[in-house]
Amino acid sequence: KLSLRGVRKRFGDVDVCNGIDLDVADGEMVCLIGASGSGKSTLLRCMNLLEPIDDGSIWLDGSDISEPGLDAQPVRQKIGIVFQSYNLFPHMTAAENVMLAPRRVHGHTRDALRPKITALFERFGLGDRMDHYPDQLSGGQQQRVAIIRALAMAPEIMLFDEITSALDPELVGEVLDVLRDLRQQGMTMVLATHEMGFARELADKVCFLDAGRILEQGPPAKLFTAPREARTKAFLSRVL
Ligand code: ATP
Ligand code: MG
Repeated sequence: KLSLRGVRKRFGDVDVCNGIDLDVADGEMVCLIGASGSGKSTLLRCMNLLEPIDDGSIWLDGSDISEPGLDAQPVRQKIGIVFQSYNLFPHMTAAENVMLAPRRVHGHTRDALRPKITALFERFGLGDRMDHYPDQLSGGQQQRVAIIRALAMAPEIMLFDEITSALDPELVGEVLDVLRDLRQQGMTMVLATHEMGFARELADKVCFLDAGRILEQGPPAKLFTAPREARTKAFLSRVL
């Protein structure tokens, strides 16, 4: 379980996260929606300790992971993140990209990793692409490799930042299928997304961010059909 309490993050004199309270229960999928600049990416980066927070606290399974001076590395193993740009190393095959962190961090050998990695590639329809280089893969395939790379560290929670935004429309579906699969397997997930249809279909909870605050949150059936706040209504009327 991940809990944020009063999380603040400032860049200069702008409160990009302005007192965020959020609970993500085990196995839950939470979607962050909101206009460009509302703070979705920054909030995800704070959850993963890629950004130090200025105030408040972040709790993972009952321990405060935001305490200053705490080693962020173990936390980042438990909370994986995938970005819009897949950031695969171009000079390494898909399998090498996926094995890099488990080799470095856990000291596992390629031979020891291969069966587990192969199972992940096969699960996401890439069993025959393991030894391809990123430029030999489509955008959707590269993004699936990036997801497999994060999963290879066996995280408890996965964060996804607009992972379909850079893809051609016909490739979006295959990446969303991966998220459907993960949800079915009970992975705890937080997504920043512009895919409102997807959020509506699969999210347990949708949070509308506005100028660094969660203005409104609730189950998608409620938030999408009967938003309480005028700003939520205005946003939804632009994007739906
Ligand atoms: P988008 O939908 O466009 O991805 P977002 O909701 O993810 O937007 P953020 O990327 O979190 O928004 O940005 C929130 C605000 O913080 C923006 O005004 C942005 O310019 C600012 N910001 C983000 N990162 C930094 C940084 N490293 N330094 C200064 N300002 C930043
Ligand atoms: Mg963003």
